[in-house]
Amino acid sequence: MTRTVLKFGGTSVASKDALEHLVAIVRDLAGERVVVVSATAGTTDALHEAARAAEAGDADRAERIVRGLEAAHVRLAAAVGLQDAPGSEVERLTERAVSLLRSVAILHECTARTLDAIVAYGERVSAPLVAGLLHAHGVTAEPVSAEGLIVTDGAFGHANPLMGPTAERARRDLVPRLRAGAVPVVTGYIAATAEGVTTTLGRGGSDYSAAVLAAALGADELRIYTDVSGVMSADPRIVADAAPLAAISYAEAAELSYFGAKVIHPRTVLPAIEARIPVRILNTFAPADHGTTITAEPVVDGSVVKATTSLGGLGLITVQGAGMSGVPGFAARVFDTTAAERVSVLMISQSSSENSICLVVPKESTDRLRRALERMFSVELQRHDVERVTVEAPVAIVAAVGEGMRGTPGVAARVFGALGRGKVNVVAIAQGSSELNISLVVQEAQREAAVRAIHDEFDARH
Ligand code: ASP
Ligand code: MG
Repeated sequence: MTRTVLKFGGTSVASKDALEHLVAIVRDLAGERVVVVSATAGTTDALHEAARAAEAGDADRAERIVRGLEAAHVRLAAAVGLQDAPGSEVERLTERAVSLLRSVAILHECTARTLDAIVAYGERVSAPLVAGLLHAHGVTAEPVSAEGLIVTDGAFGHANPLMGPTAERARRDLVPRLRAGAVPVVTGYIAATAEGVTTTLGRGGSDYSAAVLAAALGADELRIYTDVSGVMSADPRIVADAAPLAAISYAEAAELSYFGAKVIHPRTVLPAIEARIPVRILNTFAPADHGTTITAEPVVDGSVVKATTSLGGLGLITVQGAGMSGVPGFAARVFDTTAAERVSVLMISQSSSENSICLVVPKESTDRLRRALERMFSVELQRHDVERVTVEAPVAIVAAVGEGMRGTPGVAARVFGALGRGKVNVVAIAQGSSELNISLVVQEAQREAAVRAIHDEFDARH
């Protein structure tokens, strides 16, 4: 008997249309099924906003927000033909959230632990709704709170699952239900410590919940249902004939998400990948689409550059000076400065003459970082060992990603040839030693042209 974990994201549970697709997908899948659900789209954000309002002392606004969520869920249940059953549950959960928010408003303080207890509302409400709906359509389904199932440490807001105790509880609580033919509908995102205190796994954490359960249950497949048909070969808003990728490796998925393709955060599916469970990204609204399968091992399919992605809104800072070559500790001081300023560095490149170090950072932090670097190197600037710290902004990183690039000669030449023909000026270049990505910096205005040029060059259909 195959065992599948199916995770449905926020937009996949937030409308009548989505829920009808969900029911058909779960009902029509053979074998043992575990469903993991997110809160309905926007709910977790709204709960954060309510918590902020309460912390600022505005208990009424906080309550209004939660009452709004309650009404939306009651409406959604009614829209799909569910009346009373989950209604009373929503009411009970709403009262609890309101009480928590009132306490926060009195204290003017919302700790990470309290915030987790408040935001848990979203998944606690969506799971019974989905289970009730499946039940109404003849699927024996049962809502299960992950608070008794996924055991984590006490890092509130971004807790770490403990695989041993979680696997034990999954065997104890889920397997008998699966054997009996029932479909557990588990709350994503939330969990609890061994002592039973509610935690959350970080924003977007339902994927993580699903991967942890897939690993704990030794599932045959983890399916992540979202509102797009997988990971695309490029952003379809930039490249009209971009297509979903049938299969990518975990390493490719990680590179793509780092450079802007945000379908999933690969780190969250790592527990499944490590357990060699294939992860499929599928579209709730077009369930027949093949989607993208993410696997632990590289997929050898003859492609070289599989996908081209880009990330804008960045600035390039160059620290330049002839007096820097061969001076040990120079780079360390550059990065001490970025660390002290808490600026995250997206890309680094250093010329081999050691005359310059380039850093790509978010555009908002470029001026602050430039000033900090000028302070750090004030003596060297006076002596002209460092000539200048320059900023170029706005720029974008464009990355060509594919395992097939490794060991294939001439890939860089093709990338730069295509960019040259596309009249794109390359400002800086970096290639990771893993050779599965070439990333380059271009002016923001040339970002789209660069993506199109590289995508077309490596598109097998051209
Ligand atoms: N509801 C949570 C969030 O919005 C978790 C998730 O959707 O995966 O972050
Ligand atoms: Mg989500």
